[in-house]
Amino acid sequence: MSKTPAPSRPRSPKAPKTAAAKRKAGKRVKAPPRMSPEAVEEMFRRFSDAMPEPKTELEYHNPYTLLVAVVLSAQATDKGVNKATRGLFAMADTPQAMLDLGEDRVRDAIKTIGLFRNKAKNVIALSRTLVDEHDGQVPRDRAQLEALPGVGRKTANVVLNVAFGEPTMAVDTHIFRVGNRTGLAPGKTPLDVEMGLLAAIPQPYLQHAHHWLILHGRYTCLARSPKCGVCPVADLCLYPDKTAT
Ligand code: SF4
Repeated sequence: MSKTPAPSRPRSPKAPKTAAAKRKAGKRVKAPPRMSPEAVEEMFRRFSDAMPEPKTELEYHNPYTLLVAVVLSAQATDKGVNKATRGLFAMADTPQAMLDLGEDRVRDAIKTIGLFRNKAKNVIALSRTLVDEHDGQVPRDRAQLEALPGVGRKTANVVLNVAFGEPTMAVDTHIFRVGNRTGLAPGKTPLDVEMGLLAAIPQPYLQHAHHWLILHGRYTCLARSPKCGVCPVADLCLYPDKTAT
């Protein structure tokens, strides 16, 4: 007598793995852990003790050359930008001088930087706007800065912070990573992280926080292999996969 095959069991649906998939499946998503206010205060106290006056690594002479350097730094290293801007700023360090230099010579001066053709266009276009609409001056105003060609929120934040001393937070790839990894200001977008950092960091540290976090991300909390073993804030950081080195 032949055996009747056992009815196959209905397969249970796979559990969604990512937060987005869980949300779609109607599951509750656990909020990422956040550092306590005491830990945040201690983190910045240590950064401040180690480097009371952090500076940008971009070379510049005035607010205008800072603005140009930051525009050129998109998807490029500060070192690479400095190498190109030394020659460029020796020839032109005002919007009018840049217009007089012309797009071809700007392009030639920055040709070692990625996306140089487009960046040369933007440098000339923003210089034209500064001359025509702002008397050749860099405006101390977010909306006016963001209206300049090639200038987004991050660039405006750097200029407001470095040139005008405002406590803004320009979230680049390093700050986005550090903000999320440590639990300092977890967020899905740079704007989420920016707002989280502005809310979490105590006022006295806000002015320099942008530089401390960039330097921390650039030299210690590296993208692929963070140096947790020598990290000065390892005991405060909530990253679950700390390295031994
Ligand atoms: S402990 Fe590691 S992950 Fe945490 S901040 Fe330091 S380097 Fe980054």
